[in-house]
Amino acid sequence: MSGIAQEIRRLKNEIPQGVRLVAVSKFHPADAIQEAYDAGQRLFGESRVQELLEKISRLPNDIQWHFIGHLQTNKVRSLIGKISLIESVDSERLLALIDSESEKAGVITDILLQIHVAREETKFGFSPEEYRTFFENESYIHYKAVKIRGVMGMASNTDDEDRIRSDFRRIYELFDSIAADKNYNLPDFNIVSMGMSGDWPVAVEEGSNMIRIGSRIFGSRAY
Ligand SMILES: *Cc1c(COP(=O)(O)O)cnc(C)c1O
Repeated sequence: MSGIAQEIRRLKNEIPQGVRLVAVSKFHPADAIQEAYDAGQRLFGESRVQELLEKISRLPNDIQWHFIGHLQTNKVRSLIGKISLIESVDSERLLALIDSESEKAGVITDILLQIHVAREETKFGFSPEEYRTFFENESYIHYKAVKIRGVMGMASNTDDEDRIRSDFRRIYELFDSIAADKNYNLPDFNIVSMGMSGDWPVAVEEGSNMIRIGSRIFGSRAY
């Protein structure tokens, strides 16, 4: 059995029921994805549009692809209809564009709102304030060709487990403040994507139901 297949199997044993595994295959070749596929994995995450489109054309078409990287507005159109979830919607401007392109294409695109709570790392994502305002103003009601499924977030890149835990807790609380409020009437708002190779057990303890694992499955990436 390949190392990739072995890690997929190990992870599936470790992950509690109800938590979905996104195998993050960015920067790894199609052959590596095929190995994971042969081990039963069907859900993969990619962070660059061109790379993703090439992989889609070369790999089995029952793979579900999640886009997890910063999405440039000029690349939105080429993704629409090809991915099952865009996890990294980091601004309302991007959301509006995904909505209008989806409408033109006659599809509904599932998305997550990326929330930014980590101290450093990425500058991308809704701040907690922007996120709250987005819902309080009922901005989401204008978008008919996107389905807002939940949130995605990352913890600070640190060894301090307390800090990591509190970041995840904050993301979960932001999720739950909307999911638990029936006034919003968002029945499909039920995905909390948080946790990567190094911190996923903490993320799951704090309420994640979707983890994004790259290096543990595929090894380190050569950028
Ligand atoms: C690369 C990436 C991952 C996977 O990270 P690993 O540490 O390799 O597991 C998860 N989420 C996002 C948004 C990423 O860009």
